[in-house]
Amino acid sequence: MKKILLLSLLAPILAFSQHEEQIKEIYNEALTKGRAYEDLRVLCKEIGSRLSGSPEAAAAVEYTKQLMESYGFDTVYLQPVMVPHWVRGKKEIVRAINSDKHGIIDFNALALGNSVGTGPEGVLSEVIEVSGIDEVNELGKKVEGKIVFYNGEMDPTIINTFGAYGGAVVQRSSGASEAAKYGAKAIIIRSVTNRQDDIPHTGSLRYKALINQIPAVAISTNDANKLSQILKEQKLNVYIETHCQQLPDVLSYNVIGELRGSEFPDEIVAVGGHLDSWDVGEGAHDDGSGCIQAIEALRLFKALGIQPKRTLRAVMWMNEENGLRGGTEYARVAKQKGEKHIAALESDSGGFQPLGFSTSGSEEQRAQIRAWRDYFLPYRLWDFDQNGGGADIGPLRSHGTLLIGLRPSTQKYFIYHHTPADVFEAVDRRELELGAASMSAMMYLLDREGLK
Ligand SMILES: [Zn+2]
Repeated sequence: MKKILLLSLLAPILAFSQHEEQIKEIYNEALTKGRAYEDLRVLCKEIGSRLSGSPEAAAAVEYTKQLMESYGFDTVYLQPVMVPHWVRGKKEIVRAINSDKHGIIDFNALALGNSVGTGPEGVLSEVIEVSGIDEVNELGKKVEGKIVFYNGEMDPTIINTFGAYGGAVVQRSSGASEAAKYGAKAIIIRSVTNRQDDIPHTGSLRYKALINQIPAVAISTNDANKLSQILKEQKLNVYIETHCQQLPDVLSYNVIGELRGSEFPDEIVAVGGHLDSWDVGEGAHDDGSGCIQAIEALRLFKALGIQPKRTLRAVMWMNEENGLRGGTEYARVAKQKGEKHIAALESDSGGFQPLGFSTSGSEEQRAQIRAWRDYFLPYRLWDFDQNGGGADIGPLRSHGTLLIGLRPSTQKYFIYHHTPADVFEAVDRRELELGAASMSAMMYLLDREGLK
């Protein structure tokens, strides 16, 4: 009797030390024989940017499929999904034409994703500056016929930069339709970043139904300051020329690789990132890192000979950036097939030093993940309290799936986000590997413990 009592008291302690040891092996393997960095190099340098519908996105589908096959995953397959096909076309022109002090000024600009183009005739008009959508609504008809310049900044006092991004990005996503309501001809936005530099940031906009679709561009933060300064001194006319177009939808794929569970194969734990990126840069942080980390998370199980009890699935979702079609389709098919996802884990905040995991689920589920913090403290992951999962796994929430987001340091993410600077060289090998190991360790705990 005493012996049984002792054993039952010891069981959690024994499990803890067993898990602790296994997690140490996962980190050691990732940091000494990791493949993530080289795999990311190939994705970024040999394929490059991967906007939905592009030949590069198709190449990335093929590459990640072959990569998972080469690692000996049990099943690797493609899940068809129709995606939008927006193209940028010829380089944008955003030009101030009558500045008293500076003469003609060409701003560093990128058209916003999903934006209509001006075509070769361009748009020429007076610019009116606003700090945000509220001010457009106050001005009303005064913006008619003008180019509206949204100059709202990311709030530097918000320490989690994603919070500051959330506050500023609305002028990018909704600013065009809000200005078009009152007859504006086009919009220019201040790039959504907390850094002062010459690099413009693209990103998607959404047009509202039944409102005239007007062209939209982003200019660098240095140029936004310059434009704002000139507007304090004089009236300024700006010429915008963009050649972007929305082409018919294209057939593309989510890429899925699986390790089949030995005891509970019907319980799925998914891990992933989005394979598409913007058409500038190489989509290294956003979100090549997340995809490659997901593949590495499963590869580490194979390399260490850990036989999963549950089915572990790495998913490269297609079209997060300008449509979320991949994440939506994945959840739809999962529901149709009656698949049971106990948890889904996403990395889409850059390949920076991991600091923790956020969660979205029932209070019980969230508490279970928070209770695992002790396993991660030796690797300096401490932040387990934030709410949230990720865009691509979001649609699984309605199935009762626990959503988990890898939370790396956010201080540098918006230097690179949606820019030509988001290249392989911007990712640090060790930080990428720590992220992959952290995801793998979280998968391991979910696999061994399940969800209560
Ligand atoms: Zn992303």
